[in-house]
Amino acid sequence: SERPSLGGGSRILVFVRLRPMAKKEKEVGSRCCVRIVNRRDVYLTEFANENDYLRLKRLRGRHFTFDASFPDSTTQQEVYSTTTSELVEAVLQGRNGSVFCYGATGAGKTYTMLGTMDNPGVMVLAIKDLFSKIRQRSCDGNHVVHLSYLEVYNETVRDLLAPGRPLVLREDKQGIVAAGLTQYRAYSTDEVMALLQQGNQNRTTEPTRVNETSSRSHAILQVMVEYRVKDDAKNVVNRVGKLSLIDLAGSERALATDQRTLRSLEGANINRSLLALSSCINALVEGKKHIPYRNSKLTQLLKDSLGGSCNTVMIANVSPSNLSFGETQNTLHWADRAKEI
Ligand code: ADP
Ligand code: MG
Repeated sequence: SERPSLGGGSRILVFVRLRPMAKKEKEVGSRCCVRIVNRRDVYLTEFANENDYLRLKRLRGRHFTFDASFPDSTTQQEVYSTTTSELVEAVLQGRNGSVFCYGATGAGKTYTMLGTMDNPGVMVLAIKDLFSKIRQRSCDGNHVVHLSYLEVYNETVRDLLAPGRPLVLREDKQGIVAAGLTQYRAYSTDEVMALLQQGNQNRTTEPTRVNETSSRSHAILQVMVEYRVKDDAKNVVNRVGKLSLIDLAGSERALATDQRTLRSLEGANINRSLLALSSCINALVEGKKHIPYRNSKLTQLLKDSLGGSCNTVMIANVSPSNLSFGETQNTLHWADRAKEI
């Protein structure tokens, strides 16, 4: 009820999701340093000595407030309903929107976005909800749903549904498009989870860690809905709405590169897209006229889905463990800044 409405302006809704303590984190005796109260407030506690368990002493706390904060018991469905269901509604009115998961590697981004076969995440639940809302419409036969799933890795764009050569971004009258990207026509939810799991398997892996998805890879699922309606003059017009769901690269590297010189950043090319996203969000926060979309592949691809009258949702994922205190603090600061739009 207190949730700000997604009006015509470029408001961003910012959420925090705390994941459960992992077995490994428990085994090394880590302590919980994140507490969520009243479904909104996040308390982050710093302990004096992170290495000596017996001497752990509460040092200081910091308090943040977001549009909603999800404790570790929150279900995938609750996360979907609170963060994304309104955007699915808006897409069916012909409006664009985007949902980002931001946070350090291991904080729960992929779990939130993709989820597992047993506990599907926002991507799958959004498509399921979309199909169910289309079925409720009288003119449901009019609706065509297309999916594309792509990756930005080291400023290279790849099709996750048809792995192969990098895709080139082109500007046409629809905006910026990845030439040759698969537009998968989806008819039901059933086929989608397997399709997305397979796509996720196609994400770039670090050469040294063959079975792990690279923490530098951004995965973008775009869901396009096209339908015909009669306008006020009773003419049949085409409408298109697009929802972009983004599993961002690990934010820890963005912070590492942030402090480097521009030149080494250009050379490393590590997280240009994540930095560019931050710059765009900063520019939107400051109400600037010029938003630097052109600075990276990620922001070019999302140009029509960020700012303007688009709905933007940010889900900041955090681990509860004091071993991740620094990353959690950075993530919460970033999210706190983003909510000012
Ligand atoms: P990231 O994509 O941010 O690197 P993952 O989503 O892969 O992180 O999460 C790291 C681990 O924690 C995975 O094993 C994942 O299944 C688990 N995990 C993350 N969030 C949750 C959650 N809310 N509930 C249960 N397990 C979770
Ligand atoms: Mg991941």
